[in-house]
Amino acid sequence: MVKFKQTSEVLKIMGNIEQIRNIGITAHVDHGKTTLSDSLLSAAGLISEKIAGQALALDYLDVEQKRQMTVKAANASLYHEYKGKPYLINLIDTPGHVDFQSKTIRALRVIDGAIVVVDAVEGVMTQTEMYLRVALEERVRPVLFINKIDRLIKELRLSPTEIQQRLVQIVRDVNTLIATYADKEFQKAWLLDPMKGQVAFGSARDRWGLTIPLVQQKGIKFSDIVDVYTRGKEAVAELQKTAPLHEAILDMVVKHVPNPREAQRYRIPKIWHGDLNHEIVKYLIEADPNGPLVMLINDIRVDPHAGLVATGRIYSGTLRPGEEVWLVNARVPQRVLQVSLYMGPYRELADEITAGNIAAALGLEKARSGETVVSMKYKDTMTPFEKLKMITESVVTVA
Ligand code: GDP
Repeated sequence: MVKFKQTSEVLKIMGNIEQIRNIGITAHVDHGKTTLSDSLLSAAGLISEKIAGQALALDYLDVEQKRQMTVKAANASLYHEYKGKPYLINLIDTPGHVDFQSKTIRALRVIDGAIVVVDAVEGVMTQTEMYLRVALEERVRPVLFINKIDRLIKELRLSPTEIQQRLVQIVRDVNTLIATYADKEFQKAWLLDPMKGQVAFGSARDRWGLTIPLVQQKGIKFSDIVDVYTRGKEAVAELQKTAPLHEAILDMVVKHVPNPREAQRYRIPKIWHGDLNHEIVKYLIEADPNGPLVMLINDIRVDPHAGLVATGRIYSGTLRPGEEVWLVNARVPQRVLQVSLYMGPYRELADEITAGNIAAALGLEKARSGETVVSMKYKDTMTPFEKLKMITESVVTVA
């Protein structure tokens, strides 16, 4: 059973950067991205706590609408305990098509790890390769989930040995791409080793998942899994309990996706193109909560009650309500009115949100997706993560 935590505990975890992970899920079309996201959200989504009757930031939707919106949310926070320690895993929606270059790259900039989903029957496909390539270019570390193992058993009728061979082949294909597209210093270090638990396999639809360390720990054999599907529904339900999908996936994420500070040390020089001698760099590299505020907005939504909600990653400093900040592209100062965690359609109010987190801010009415927000002190010297062409308001207003 997932234990839902009180908000205050979530806010406590948020303050400890080692306990945060920012991730996305990428997949070739139909390989199971949506099914996996749904499964993670229903098992570990903090959203359920709200449905159980806590105070809501948005209260104009009925419960069913809220559930549906969660699936489409730009950002959802998952709660997971690993070796007795709590973690906050922010799952950011990455666009379905790589063609929308700036949108894809923007989403990749706010995450540090990507779960690459591959259908066990189809194997690595063109979009798997495209996503992996752009993710690696942005220094987003991949982990792998090989999905639809049930199809290998029911449709292809593979033996336990043949299933293992198939998995080995897919891992090899993904590793070839990592060795090809990763920056030199990560070409070896980021190769996936199934023995270390960097590859999960299972069925998102049937909600079970395993890694080799979990197989060993639980004493499950490949022949047992084949057996489950010959025995039918009840046996599958049993497997869901002994090998829950979210456990396999989120253990893998906590262990192998770097925390935001570790990631920013090697990512900042790649994803931010400003002068590396600028004094702000040391704060960015360390994700320093006491440094100046630097935030990249990756999503803008209009809440009918609260107005414009700007969501993004805080790379440095602490976001606090009441503070005046500078929008680098729009070239205007704005005052932050409210700060919160954006969990699906809900916003969870916070007094402050520290570096490494994904935060939602009210008050930044002039912000657009892709905007860089910075402390006033750096208004004239900050290089934005992305140079946006700002459209004047008269052009934006369409009847
Ligand atoms: P997306 O396009 O990557 O988001 O893929 P979806 O999650 O929408 O899944 C595509 C199709 O594959 C849907 O019909 C799912 O029900 C199905 N699917 C997802 N996971 C599994 C699985 O583990 N086994 C089988 N047999 N089908 C699955």
